[in-house]
Parts: sequence; C-alpha cells; structure tokens
Amino acid sequence: MALNDVEKKVDKILKKGQEGSVIAPVRMERDSKFCFACHPGVPCFTDCCRNMNIILTPYDIVRLKNRLGLTSDAFLHLYAQPELLGITMVPVARLKMLEDQGGRCPFVTPDGCQVYSDRPVCCRYYPIGLASLRQQEKGAGEEEEFFFLVKEPHCKGFEEPTEWTVESWRGDQEADLYDRMNREWMELLLRKKSFGEETELPEKARKLFYMVSTNTEKFKSYVFESRFLDTYIVSEETQKKILEDDVALMQFGFEYLKHAIFGADSDVIAIRKEIRDKEVKKILKRRKKQRAKLARLKKGRL
Ligand code: SF4
Ligand code: SF4
Repeated sequence: MALNDVEKKVDKILKKGQEGSVIAPVRMERDSKFCFACHPGVPCFTDCCRNMNIILTPYDIVRLKNRLGLTSDAFLHLYAQPELLGITMVPVARLKMLEDQGGRCPFVTPDGCQVYSDRPVCCRYYPIGLASLRQQEKGAGEEEEFFFLVKEPHCKGFEEPTEWTVESWRGDQEADLYDRMNREWMELLLRKKSFGEETELPEKARKLFYMVSTNTEKFKSYVFESRFLDTYIVSEETQKKILEDDVALMQFGFEYLKHAIFGADSDVIAIRKEIRDKEVKKILKRRKKQRAKLARLKKGRL
C-alpha cells in the first residue's frame, strides 16, 4: 500500500475508529515491538511490488537515477509520470507501473527488488507508517509524529519470528536518512502555515516546482546557465557545493522554492536588492494602472 493511501486511511481510523482496515488502530512509539521479515523464503515474496501508487520524492529520484546511471531526463522519461497531488495540486512524479505486465513495478524480478539499496522511501517504510498529529489537528503548536502498523492480510511477513522495535526497523531501512532528506520537500508539499496554507500555485510556479524537485541537471543549468545568479545572491561556497553534489543541489532547490514561491527567508539565497527594487517598482506601477482603470470604470457607471 502506498504511503499516501495509508495516510488517508490512518486519518479515518485514528479519528473515527473505522473497523476492518489494514491499519492496526494503535499508535506505536519508537520502542513498540512487532514481528516481521520479508525475504525470498516468504510465500508472498514480491507479490506486493505491483499496482503501487509510489510518489517519488526528490531524494528517491536522485538515488534511483544515480543507481541506474541515468540523467534525470532519461529516468523521468522511462520510469515516471507527472501528476498533480491531491487538493494541493502540487506537481509530483509517480513511479510508472508496467500496465502491460500486470501492473508490476519496473524494478521487481523473481529475485526481488533490483534497486533494493536505493528503493523509494515508500517501499522502506512498509509495514510501519509515519503520521503527524499536526496534520490532523490544524493549528496545534509543535508537530507530534507517531507510527502505526500496516497489516495487510496477504502479507506473510508478519508470520516471521524476527522481532523489531519501530526504532530498529527504521534504522535497518535507513528511514531516518530519508526522512531528513525529504523533510523540507514534505513541508513544501504540505504548505505549512508559515508558507501560506491557502497558497494556490500558478502554472509557472508549478513548472518550477516540478523541475527543481525532479530534475537536478535541468535545475543546475537553470542556476548556472541563466540569469539566476544575476538575480539571486548565492555564496561561492554554496555554488561550489551544488556544482559538485546532487544532494546539496536538491537541498538548495528546496530553499530556492521556499524563497521564490512561498516568500520565506533563507540563509542560503536572497534576491539582489536592485532586482527587488525593480520588482517593487513594477508592482507599484501595475497597481497604479489598475486603480486608474477602476476609477475610469466607476466614473463611466455614474
Ligand atoms: S522499488 Fe523495489 S521494493 Fe519498491 S515496489 Fe519496486 S521492486 Fe518493490
Ligand atoms: S507482501 Fe509482505 S512479506 Fe510479502 S513480499 Fe510484500 S512486504 Fe514482503
């Protein structure tokens, strides 16, 4: 089950106590225990690697395209499909399942996942989901994260004796690293209060968001081969880092999106004063024109 499907269900269960769900309606803490193992010996091995709705995070894409030795363009063309996510209408990349092969994941073989050490975060979490209380209780102060178990009837992994705590499972799956890498992007997706919860992204901003979150090569050209550095102040040190390292570039991209789309302050990027002044002048001129037009219209009506 894909993570976003799980999140919808967990909302229903923990809030309304829905019965008959695959999610055990129990909050788990980091030291909560469960038994689980997934290996070629389980009778259902690889059964779940089909018809999954896997939204690829920017870090998933960086890991996968580097693993496969592909450019972002080639990776997106072969393995991803753009879509607008839920009510936020933020553009994301979804992993394309092979419809003509029973909806199997392009990376699954009878021997298991061919990209296992670089598999997407969604495949790493299973069977432990992560939820945030702040999502459910809007306006609450600090965000409180908690875990829950996703127990699907066809999954025989729960019959295995290997015992885990949530903490040891997450450590084994590199979940903390992925959470850290994805946090800023998730915040952009959730449009947290500080970025304006009701913000509706215009078409131009959506295109920018998709390019920055899915295509490191295109974003790199955008930074170094356009007028970007004439518009924004970026330190020499940051420029060097993002030229050499895809992950640093991705993180810089999140800062840029926060700043350019949601108007948040950033420690690593700032618009140049002369450009900002020019923009302010343009806005004031436009507003003046709009006011004059409105006044003419009103006068015409009298
Ligand atoms: S990426 Fe790997 S683990 Fe995830 S669905 Fe595909 S084959 Fe399965
Ligand atoms: S259904 Fe469960 S045990 Fe079977 S392959 Fe998937 S995760 Fe592993």
